[in-house]
Amino acid sequence: MEHLTRRHVLLGVATTVAALAAARPLSGQAPPTSAGPVDPGLIEDLVAANRILVDQGVLDGYGHVSVRHDRAADRYLMARSVAPELVTTADIMEYDLDSAPVDARGRATYLERFIHGEIYRARPDVRAVVHSHSPSVIPFGVTGVSLRPLYHMSAFLAGGVPVYDIRQASGGMTDMLVRNAMLGQSLARVLGSAPVALMRGHGAVVVGSSLPAVVFRSVYTEVNARLQMQAMALGGPVVYLDPEEARRAEASIAGTIPRPWELWKKKALGR
Ligand SMILES: [Zn+2]
Repeated sequence: MEHLTRRHVLLGVATTVAALAAARPLSGQAPPTSAGPVDPGLIEDLVAANRILVDQGVLDGYGHVSVRHDRAADRYLMARSVAPELVTTADIMEYDLDSAPVDARGRATYLERFIHGEIYRARPDVRAVVHSHSPSVIPFGVTGVSLRPLYHMSAFLAGGVPVYDIRQASGGMTDMLVRNAMLGQSLARVLGSAPVALMRGHGAVVVGSSLPAVVFRSVYTEVNARLQMQAMALGGPVVYLDPEEARRAEASIAGTIPRPWELWKKKALGR
């Protein structure tokens, strides 16, 4: 834990120096100042979340997870551009809601970081965001077949899963990446108040009130998508959760999320 604390302090100091010295890469403005030290436990959880999502088949060499700064609603934390399985505490960077890094120090940033900044701006209730290319959800983004909860673990999907089409949002052809603030805002609008939105021909974005919650939702969105394809392949009508069943199941399961989180975190951090 000591290394986390030391880095914690250094983050604030280095940030102030960088804020005075460096130019903001894209806009020519100075980089944003740091909101100050972050709870080391939150950084450890963010590292764990990266590795868990790989272990669970949600992320691979691509995709990212972020968490809102514990003391500043207008800042979030996310790794530099690196494969999620390789993320360590030293890779975690602070961003403002324009997704400008506070203290880049030459480190590359994820091209699609605007997904995170614009969702945090639009959704004060959201404290953690995952963007994935979660493989089993892809068919639901391209066929018009709605992703719906067919078991209690994915009851949170009951309010509906919107699909974001970048072609409509941009008005033309793109490389499919949410690579600027305008596209990030259009994605946040499609997400609305939902926990999950699919991205046509690309992946998904999942939000939650904490890292354990967003990891739980990301894992069970992937599992539900797989199960729904299997159920549909068997033929016959699929019985989905009734909205009332979903409401009750979500309320019951919410209190149990620490159980899988503890297990996943232990495995992910190798302890
Ligand atoms: Zn992506």
